[in-house]
Amino acid sequence: MEKRRRVINADLIKTLSLAGCKILENEPMSKRCSFKIGGGADFFVEIPTEKALLVFLQNIGEENFFILGGATNILFSDNGYRGAIVKLTEEFAQFSIKGNAVTCGAGASLPLVVKAAAENNLSGFESLAGIPGTVGGAVLGNAGSAAKWISNSVESVEVFRNAKKELLKREEIVFEYRSSNLKNVVITKINFTLKKAAGNDILKEISESINRRAQSQPLNTPNAGCIFKNPKDASAGKLIDESGLKGKSYGGAKISEIHANFIVNTGAAKADDVLYLAELAKKTVKEKFNINLEYEIKIIK
Ligand SMILES: Cc1cc2nc3c(=O)[nH]c(=O)nc-3n(C[C@H](O)[C@H](O)[C@H](O)COP(=O)(O)OP(=O)(O)OC[C@H]3O[C@@H](n4cnc5c(N)ncnc54)[C@H](O)[C@@H]3O)c2cc1C
Repeated sequence: MEKRRRVINADLIKTLSLAGCKILENEPMSKRCSFKIGGGADFFVEIPTEKALLVFLQNIGEENFFILGGATNILFSDNGYRGAIVKLTEEFAQFSIKGNAVTCGAGASLPLVVKAAAENNLSGFESLAGIPGTVGGAVLGNAGSAAKWISNSVESVEVFRNAKKELLKREEIVFEYRSSNLKNVVITKINFTLKKAAGNDILKEISESINRRAQSQPLNTPNAGCIFKNPKDASAGKLIDESGLKGKSYGGAKISEIHANFIVNTGAAKADDVLYLAELAKKTVKEKFNINLEYEIKIIK
């Protein structure tokens, strides 16, 4: 195991605590992510306000922390994380709706925002129904389904870069399938513009999306969503299925029998078990179809 690096010393713990941060040491990441896998992070820091975030960023280099949303698209190493895992709470979990404008803190729950938009007869988020996590995580990874992505409704994004606040207009941000160029920044707030629509149409699309997921995803077993991005004009799940790997187990991990692009934690999976199956899927798909699968989940070591 790597040597523990104290990126936060006793004085800094005091400073951050005074700013309102909550700091936990050696926090198991298995408790904090949808996969329920991962060793201890040296520090787990909950940051409640922009003021506290600024204090944090002025004292800790970006190489020493990792910003977490809802941790629904992440595989943490069994060895945990050497540094600080940061979660934006309180002020960052708020959102508001005025007319067609939806303003969200990056830590706001995506499912709650989708629900509130529907209740206000606002259309644009229907295809996001059933996607877990935060709005910040969804914007960073341009979450969505088929060709309907969260970026379609983004107006602007507030970020901190090198401890300085910036407002990025939509035209300044590059969004692609499951990615954006919002790298090396902390997203703090997102402004969306939605369209007024009939409430019944919105609710119908939302319930179709949720039903589709319930039938096609292993929602009752811990997982982190799709392991791989879909290659151009192909489905990663179908390729893995046609490689004969559906249901394949290793240690406590298993390629889902319901959807082959999901790996599930059947109880006591290690990150290494998941990676073994993922690499096996990559290798087999390459050999059989000459297609390179690219990870969608973030692997954090
Ligand atoms: C059952 C299930 C179904 C899913 N279905 C879908 C789907 O249909 N479509 C889809 O796109 N995804 C899907 N996902 C994956 C996942 O839910 C989404 O990608 C989600 O948007 C990730 O958000 P999060 O808050 O959990 O981000 P996390 O997993 O916590 O983080 C993801 C990335 O975002 C970064 N990040 C998070 N917050 C910030 C911030 N404030 N500033 C800077 N960087 C930040 C993290 O550093 C990390 O790199 C599914 C997952 C599960 C478990």
